[in-house]
Amino acid sequence: MLSREEALRIFVDAGALLSGHFVLTSGRHSDHYMQCAQVLKHPPHTEVLVRHLADEFRDDGIEIVVAPAIGGIIVSYEVGRQLRVPAIFAERENGLMILRRGFELHPNQRVLVVEDVITTGGSVREVMQLVEERGAEVAGVGVLVDRSNGAVRFGVKQGQVLSMEIRSWDPVDCPVCKEGRIPLVKPGSRF
Ligand SMILES: [Zn+2]
Repeated sequence: MLSREEALRIFVDAGALLSGHFVLTSGRHSDHYMQCAQVLKHPPHTEVLVRHLADEFRDDGIEIVVAPAIGGIIVSYEVGRQLRVPAIFAERENGLMILRRGFELHPNQRVLVVEDVITTGGSVREVMQLVEERGAEVAGVGVLVDRSNGAVRFGVKQGQVLSMEIRSWDPVDCPVCKEGRIPLVKPGSRF
């Protein structure tokens, strides 16, 4: 199994763990930001990190992998490749998480839900609901990075490659703002 230190080194060396002053999707500020795309753009890194997840769920009779787009697509593909099962993704249309492109889930199918990074786990929960609505079974949730440091629980078997707490603050309490030296950036298109 990949150790936490080895996994963290891969993220840091790939430039995925950024230091600075960031405004998160939630509106909160943070002094660190995890940009998983910087790791996932290297297929060999993705292969090594995902092996940790694939091993975790190898004996669980997983029949299909599904992820929320866009962040989870590469993770889904690689988990599916390593478990030798189909890998699909759900995407948002008018705010709702749906399956498009002829992707389907069947009643009683054992589904592994995967994602690159979770903070509150909102997108994963939406995909879990979509799976359950089709009568399929969420056999587990696997993520590369759990930014909640284990606080977010999905009520099913859960696996992660890296669990860490990335501190964030309400803008009025942000110590980086108070220091006033580092300009605030909104990660996304630029990063
Ligand atoms: Zn700030």
